[in-house]
Amino acid sequence: MAKPVVLVLDDDQKTLELIVKDLEQRYRDRYRIIGEASAREALEKLQELKRNNEPVALLLVDRWMRETTGAEFLKQTNDLFPAAKRAFLTSYNDAKAGVSTLKEVGIDLVLIKPCQPPDENLYPIVDDLLADWEMAQHTPALGSLIIIGHRFSPESHQTRDFLVRHGVPFQWLDVERDEEARRLLDAAGVNAQRLPVAMFPDGTMLVQPTNEEIARKIGLQVRPGQTSYDLVIVGAGPAGLAAAVYGASEGLRTVMMERYAPGGQAALSSKIENYLGFPAGLTGVDLARRAVTQARKFDVEIVTPQVVTGVDVEGPGRVVKLSDGSAVRSEVILLATGIEWRRLEVPGMDRLIGAGVYYGGTIADAFLCRGEDVYIVGGANSAGQAALGFSRYVRTVTLLVRRESLSQSMSQYLIEQIKATPNIKVRLRCEVAEVHGDKGLEAITILDCSTQQKETVPTHALFIFIGGLPHTEYLNGVVKTDDHGFILTGADLERSGGDRHRPQGWPLERDPFWLECSVPGIFAAGDVRHGSVKRVAASVGEGATAVMFIHRYLSSNL
Ligand SMILES: Cc1cc2nc3c(=O)[nH]c(=O)nc-3n(C[C@H](O)[C@H](O)[C@H](O)COP(=O)(O)OP(=O)(O)OC[C@H]3O[C@@H](n4cnc5c(N)ncnc54)[C@H](O)[C@@H]3O)c2cc1C
Repeated sequence: MAKPVVLVLDDDQKTLELIVKDLEQRYRDRYRIIGEASAREALEKLQELKRNNEPVALLLVDRWMRETTGAEFLKQTNDLFPAAKRAFLTSYNDAKAGVSTLKEVGIDLVLIKPCQPPDENLYPIVDDLLADWEMAQHTPALGSLIIIGHRFSPESHQTRDFLVRHGVPFQWLDVERDEEARRLLDAAGVNAQRLPVAMFPDGTMLVQPTNEEIARKIGLQVRPGQTSYDLVIVGAGPAGLAAAVYGASEGLRTVMMERYAPGGQAALSSKIENYLGFPAGLTGVDLARRAVTQARKFDVEIVTPQVVTGVDVEGPGRVVKLSDGSAVRSEVILLATGIEWRRLEVPGMDRLIGAGVYYGGTIADAFLCRGEDVYIVGGANSAGQAALGFSRYVRTVTLLVRRESLSQSMSQYLIEQIKATPNIKVRLRCEVAEVHGDKGLEAITILDCSTQQKETVPTHALFIFIGGLPHTEYLNGVVKTDDHGFILTGADLERSGGDRHRPQGWPLERDPFWLECSVPGIFAAGDVRHGSVKRVAASVGEGATAVMFIHRYLSSNL
């Protein structure tokens, strides 16, 4: 496989040479650096790379050139390499204007020329952009993990999704489409009915692996290292991750239990554009990757996949029960288990989940549907983001929305982007009435709620983004929840009975802290909490704030 290309276009020869030299110094082992001073020649070069099927990872383009503008040039490259990262090279006094065009031409960042010293003004930014690109590719260099599976097998989808959500690059080979898949299975003596198969670079192989087996193999920690901690966090979404970073950085021995993969719901977002500090937006998987790195830096133990099946109170101690029957003791527990998709109950659904019908969906899923017509159910921001993300890879995306207008449930900035994207269609006042297919999804029936007419359309991919519920049954009534299962904290506990300020059975002289549950020393943060805002920033804020109350609890030991 050819090295991916980083192309620099700048008609100022001196700047071009300087940036190319700096890039070569750091990236030449993994990337091919190409410098071009002419937009026309750069475009020809990209067309040639496309013909030769060579990957392009990053385009660094001067914003103002004599021949053309950076924006014009980048527009011409969109169809050639839609997944390539894009950044403007601009001067200091033009940087503000450059940022305002982020949205217009879909660039990721603006670099100030001449990007000196590179350690401060070039490498950190390029490192980030290339790491994002590598994560999105899932087509790593030869010699890495290979997954052989079937596109419409739920088991294959589970393995693929687990690796994507853990940010592990792998090469996907479809047993029906790729000759190489059949050759490798024959050579390994594996029956092609027993999929998926994971072939690791060290020559070992897992046939029909569980997530836990994969986790062990890729070096994840699947059991806690100790039996007691200062803080146990349940759930590694934005709230849990923020609490882990703040808790551990402030000296609490912290472990975080996550049943699937860090990032939670946020990891399903193809572009989070409203999280502070990321003007070009970032994918949820990228946000999770950064947060996990930060948490590990402070020695947080991240235990995954590990399902918490209950919590308990033993005198002053708090206990978290795990699915293998073991338990971990702690001074304090933080519940940050978020919400889960509501199920779409229509005929045919059960047998097609994971086989063409997916709850949520990442860019990696869209990548498998290249050139196809796909459908998304939902009218909220999560559905809108998915439509925009997927539209870069598929032929058409159709949003199926039950409401009369998108503005009832979606942010204006997304509505505008959807309107401006020609291959996204929006169908209002409609719902999915049935899904069809034997081995995989073949068609869906759409009900027009105004006319009650049904229409069946062919498709191999239906993604469902319809909000969720907290699933706090595992708490078994130990802490109080509202009627929908959202956890009550602080002042909201008054509604659960007891006197004016304190919940029934509350044993202390003080009132519960804002994020404290009906049991002292058990806290809740993020979407799982009654009255929460259901946003990344809000969850991060609550996770961080919970740690402040946890310190207060620990210092008074009350
Ligand atoms: C597709 C999509 C796009 C979105 N886009 C945006 C956006 O652009 N901007 C924005 O502000 N918000 C966005 N949101 C909302 C945002 O992602 C959520 O508000 C946020 O993730 C909530 O964080 P949380 O940590 O409270 O919960 P979650 O993110 O739900 O994380 C909870 C975690 O707990 C784990 N867990 C649950 N039960 C257990 C158990 N028993 N044992 C162990 N682990 C458990 C789950 O696996 C999960 O990882 C989006 C949501 C979705 C679904």
